[in-house]
Amino acid sequence: MPATLSIVDVDDVVSGVLEGDRRAVARAISMVEDGAGDLPALIGGLFPKTGHAYTVGLTGSPGVGKSSLAADLVKTVRALDLRVAVLAIDPTSPFTGGALLGDRLRMQAHATDPNVFIRSMATRGHLGGLALAAPEAVRVLDASGADVVVVETVGVGQAEVEVATQADTTLVVVAPGWGDAVQASKAGILEIADVFVVNKADRDGAVEAARDLEHMLHLGPALDWAPPVVKTSTVAGEGIDDLWEAIEGHRKHLESTGDLERRRRARLLHEVEEMVSVRLRDRLAARLEDGDLERLADDLIARHMDPYHATDILMSKVTEESP
Ligand code: GDP
Repeated sequence: MPATLSIVDVDDVVSGVLEGDRRAVARAISMVEDGAGDLPALIGGLFPKTGHAYTVGLTGSPGVGKSSLAADLVKTVRALDLRVAVLAIDPTSPFTGGALLGDRLRMQAHATDPNVFIRSMATRGHLGGLALAAPEAVRVLDASGADVVVVETVGVGQAEVEVATQADTTLVVVAPGWGDAVQASKAGILEIADVFVVNKADRDGAVEAARDLEHMLHLGPALDWAPPVVKTSTVAGEGIDDLWEAIEGHRKHLESTGDLERRRRARLLHEVEEMVSVRLRDRLAARLEDGDLERLADDLIARHMDPYHATDILMSKVTEESP
């Protein structure tokens, strides 16, 4: 019977992931991407074994050096004898773009290291989109025994920024010439950084870029954590240790203030609320007949109905007993 087979399968994937088996981890992440029907069983099996990994989000405009930094961070974390995973998330080009990112990293020296797992990910069928798929993929990596999970996003769109902020420590990467701090502020990424990275510090303008960022930060409200600005060059191999130190410093700050747990609690609740709203939308969509929404729009535009009344009508479809 297919149902039974599928349950056995999920159990196998769960136990494989918990043993750190790479194929099982890859399979589980594909299930997350596809929004597979047995995702609840997968996550149900893994969730009790999660909460160990420290997550680092890496965001910034394309080309600033995020993939290069991720590869260097992998090296640093491995030198500490910790297990590390990189999840490169590409919402814009689900197939080729995502695969390329992962492949580029995979080409590096870590390909044969069993304590490194690198994977790119897109969302194909996951109903909640990236914002819900990413934490589930991180959970798979966490359950597989990763001590550190680096989540790299390709750009600074809204979805990517949201994914980056789901990490324990969020790194915002800029490069000289990319633009000044004002642009960072406009892109809405100034607020989300726990650590700023000015990469390509081997190029002219890095000192100025770092100074501008620091100036911009001083103009903002005083925070209990003042995000440090770290200069790195992946080409010259400089600043990566400083970057790791900044990440560790932020972690210690979060742990000593209790903010780590507070943030994680808030993120879990937020995730559940998002799942509720996805399910409600899904249920509504399933209960609407063709043309229902168009008729509602006709009534609204003709002022035969107001938005509250329209909402009541849709809510009653959501809450009525299933047919
Ligand atoms: P991403 O798109 O943000 O992931 O950026 P990549 O890591 O793919 O890097 C984009 C380009 O910048 C590549 O050609 C890298 O070789 C180059 N690059 C990365 N880091 C540095 C750096 O520190 N200095 C210089 N000069 N180039 C770098």
